[in-house]
Parts: sequence; structure tokens; C-alpha cells
Amino acid sequence: MLAARPTRAIGVSPGPAAAILGAMNSDVLFVHAPAAPLRSLVLDSPHSGFTMPADFGSVRTVEELRDAEDCFIDELVLPAVARGVPLLAARFPRTYIDPNRHAGDVDLDLLAEPWPHEHVPSGKARAGKALLWRTLDDGRPLYDRQLTAAEVAHRIEHYHRPYHAQLKALLDAAHARFGAVFHLNCHSMNAVGGAMAEGGAGLPRADIVLGDRDGTTCAPEFTAFVREVLLAQGYSVKVNDPFKGVELVRAYADPAAGRHSLQIELNKRLYLQQGTLTRSEGFAPLQAHLMQLFDAIDSRFHPR
Ligand SMILES: [Zn+2]
Repeated sequence: MLAARPTRAIGVSPGPAAAILGAMNSDVLFVHAPAAPLRSLVLDSPHSGFTMPADFGSVRTVEELRDAEDCFIDELVLPAVARGVPLLAARFPRTYIDPNRHAGDVDLDLLAEPWPHEHVPSGKARAGKALLWRTLDDGRPLYDRQLTAAEVAHRIEHYHRPYHAQLKALLDAAHARFGAVFHLNCHSMNAVGGAMAEGGAGLPRADIVLGDRDGTTCAPEFTAFVREVLLAQGYSVKVNDPFKGVELVRAYADPAAGRHSLQIELNKRLYLQQGTLTRSEGFAPLQAHLMQLFDAIDSRFHPR
């Protein structure tokens, strides 16, 4: 099953963001920068990476780890780049370190020693899904050991921080150019919640879940508009249930200042063959609908 996902020939596209990336480890992230940024929309895909860092040291197999991956989400939205929309995507897996957590959201139970840096617990550690995951969705542990503080700090410095710096740079650039930015933080979710999942185990999920942290990370009309477009396309849509959005929609959002961030979770049953990492026939139609959505957002919200 793992062979189903081909190696991608996508590199760093030329453009304003490429210069920012130049100072970074290109093993960490992709920046797909449009030749001309034409839209106030910015996309990011923090959980589609699957390059396992050599120092991961997890006892789980690659296949087990990839169950947590938002498989193909970056490829699903990639045609947006040709429409003038930048896309940031992580190359590392979210199980190694999760960009969608505060850098201080360290699970102290994972550590063999005291954490000497900022500690900002979110409560996600209870489910094993803080900055560094302790367990998979079904509760199986990722490690047969505790980690050193230096190990955790290394992952923050070399993976988490560059991802956030790059996202902030893309958002700032769009805001500076257009006076407003609309950030879609793109994810996928398993069709049914696992044992440790948000929203409860075994519950089937909607086609799409939008998260604006209960109306705090973007203008309410942005969430409402995206929901209406998706409903008109025939999808079932829920808002903030069970996913409200986490750190990446929180960190740089400021709706009053024209900085809007919205999380979108796409159900894997829409585009993957069930239980596999292989695209289904649903991939292309979903991709086409997403491009329609991006066009609609541009028509409705782009400052003119
Ligand atoms: Zn995700």
C-alpha cells in the first residue's frame, strides 16, 4: 500500500517566498510560490508530509505512522498555485512534530528529564497528541523510550519553527500586498473517529469540517461563505464539530486587522480508497470543487 504514493517531483517553485526558504533546510518543507501572487488566499498543508527523519526513533512502522497523515492534501490543492495562490506544505510527518501545536505544548510524560523551556499545555497531551505525539489515534505508543529535552528542542528548532516562519512570511506578504489575507489551513480526517479521537470513537464524520475556533480566527461571513459553497457542491459540512482548528489558525489570525484563518478538514473517504493511501476516483472531482471554492472566495473577498 505504501508504494501507491509516487515520489513527487515537486520542488521549490521560484517566487518571492523561495528566497525565504533559501535559508532553511529544504528537507523540511515545500513552498509552492506562484509566479505572480494574484490572490489574497494562502494555503498550507501541515500534515501531508511523509519523509521520516532519520532520528525519529519510533517503534511504529511507517505504515502505522502514515495513518495519521493527511495524505495527498498538498497535491489536492496544488493546482491553486497556477491560479496565483501560494501553498506551504510540510515534508516531515506530523507524528514526528506537529506544526499545528504551540511550540510550548510539550507532553511532559514523553520526557526523560525536566523541560527547560516554555511550557504551554493545551490539553492535547491527554489524548497523546501534543507537540510530539505520544500515541497513535488508537492509543498505541510511538516510542519504547522517553525522549531527551535536547531531542525535542531539535525538532522545534529545525522543523516546527521554520514551518511557522514560512507560513507567517506568506501571510504577511499577502496582507501587505492586498490589505487582507484569507488563510485556508488544509487537512484531512479519517472517515470514522479512532479510540482517542476528537468527537468520540467510532462516529462517522461529515464530508467536510470547517474550524474557526468558535468564530475567533476569521470573519463569520468567511466561514459562512465557504460552508455555503461546499453545501451547494453537495457536501455535508459541519462547523467547529468536532474540529475547531488548533494552533495554525490561531497563531496569526486577527480578523479585525484583515487576517482571516480557517481550518478545512476533508474526509478521506472523499478521495482515498478505503483504508489505503491510494487515490480513489473521487480525487479529481474533489480537486475540481476545491478550485471552484478558491475562485469563489477570490470573487467574494479579494480586496479590489
Ligand atoms: Zn491535519
